[in-house]
Parts: sequence; structure tokens; C-alpha cells
Amino acid sequence: MKTITILSGKGGVGKSSISASLALSFSKNKKIICADCDVDASNLALVFGAKKQEEWIDLSTNEAAVFNLNKCGSCKKCFNVCYFGAIDWKDNKPHLKKFSCEGCGVCKLVCPQNAILMKKVSNAKIGFANTKYGFKVVSAQLNPGESGSGKVVSEVKNKAKNMGSGADLMIVDSAAGVGCPVIASITGSDYAIIVTEPTPSGFSDMKKAIEIINFFNIPKSIIINKFDLNKSGTKQIEEYAEKNNLVVLSKIPFDKKFALALTNLVPIIKYAPSYELLFNDMKNKLLNLMNL
Ligand code: SF4
Ligand code: SF4
Repeated sequence: MKTITILSGKGGVGKSSISASLALSFSKNKKIICADCDVDASNLALVFGAKKQEEWIDLSTNEAAVFNLNKCGSCKKCFNVCYFGAIDWKDNKPHLKKFSCEGCGVCKLVCPQNAILMKKVSNAKIGFANTKYGFKVVSAQLNPGESGSGKVVSEVKNKAKNMGSGADLMIVDSAAGVGCPVIASITGSDYAIIVTEPTPSGFSDMKKAIEIINFFNIPKSIIINKFDLNKSGTKQIEEYAEKNNLVVLSKIPFDKKFALALTNLVPIIKYAPSYELLFNDMKNKLLNLMNL
């Protein structure tokens, strides 16, 4: 199974909308599965109109420190060493701050009294939804205040790989930004698509996303969304692409129909079939670029 990861750097550029229509377009030629790796705010299944999760189970990819205060000798080593400031010091004893522990285990390593245990915590839910288009969307949702989103993303991709055995293609909808969940999304991908828009932050975040993709040496191309809102901004992105040997896969105009499609829980190519041509063209270019 080949994997295409769609990322953006900047949020709100239309990545999930584009991912959904691209996935739908691919599903006409290939057996596909989708992995929604935006585990802080997963919504790809909803873009396909799948409101119901077929499975939604607890996932534990993180640990938290537990203090045995009877054993504690109040040396304060754990308090001093915790990089994340997750320990409160009260009544001459350590107390864990809710939502702050990153589960790094350093406090346990330095404790001379063996008074600290690392305990698994349930930090997310993972599951899948069936879409009416004949493929599944695997997704997860980080529990409020919990950490470990990178590991949760890896679990989403593993589950999609298992559930999609026999599929030709996994479409990964990454989180926005350039942090841990994005790195986990892009790891092991065969191809990356960066969705950007012609704004200063869109351009700057696109370049950061490209740096990450380059680090992993993954072939890539760009989609410029809402290109007609700022022609000089679009020109700047195109010049950058040319200088850096990047393919501009497509330029998509600003159209309120994208927002209306989201409101109606259907991909844009279903809401406005005139877009089918544009997404088919992107798909055909990708099939070529990826030798699929
Ligand atoms: S496990 Fe790490 S983050 Fe959590 S309390 Fe210990 S040192 Fe701090
Ligand atoms: S390092 Fe261990 S003994 Fe020292 S304060 Fe922390 S829990 Fe207590």
C-alpha cells in the first residue's frame, strides 16, 4: 500500500476539504483507506458525512508519574528535574499537576527511594467510520488536556494499515503545524502534498512544512488554494516552487461552495460536480508522479 500525506503548515487553508475530494477521486480507480491524523480536532469522517463511529475505543500511548508518598524522603530531586513543571511541592512532598505530566519518566530515574511509578494513562480514543463512498476513515481524538499526540497519530496509521490490508492507497490527512503529530504523519509516506494559500503566513508555514518533508527525503508537490485572492502572493509561491523544483499540482480558486459543502457534510466534488475535473486532473498527475 502506498501512502500520500496531505499537510499544510498553516491551519485553515482547506486541507481536509481537499483531502476528502482527492480521496473520493482516487477511490474511483483504487482501493483506498483514509487516516485522519489531526488527532486534536479530527473531522475528516464528518467531511464525508459519516457522523457515526463504528468503533471508538480507549487508547493508551502515554504514561504519568504516580508518587508513593509513604516511601518519599522529600529530597526534592523529582521536583528539580521535571522539565515540564508537572510537579507541585506542597507539605514538603511532591504532587503531580493534572494535565502537565508528559510521561518522560525522568523523575522515576532520579528518585533515590524508588517512590515513583510510571502508570499507563488513557489519553485518546481511536476508531473508524464507514463512509457512503465505500471506504473507511480511521481517526482518533486526544482526550482533553492529554499529551502524546505523535504516538496517537502513529496508532491511527497502524490501524489504517491493518484495516486497509489489500488497499492500494492510504490518504493521510495530517494535523496543521510542524510539530510532533505532523512528523508522525509524514514518517514513512511515499508522497507528500502541501496545501497552501497566498498569504504571508501560508507561504512561511509552507516553507517550514517543506523543510520537514525534505528531511525525510519524500517527493512532494504543492496545491495553492484560494489562489485568486492574492495574485502577487500566488506568483511568489510559484516562483519559489520553480526555484526549488517543486511541482504545483493545482491552483484552486476561492469559492464559497467549499464552505457550503462542509456545512452540508459532503466533499466539494459531490456538492459542486464542476470541481470533479480539477480533482481528477490532480489525481491523474499524482498517479503519474507516484508511478501508481
Ligand atoms: S514523568 Fe516527566 S513530566 Fe511527568 S512528572 Fe516525571 S519528570 Fe515530570
Ligand atoms: S525524588 Fe523520590 S524521594 Fe525525592 S522527593 Fe521525589 S518522590 Fe520523594
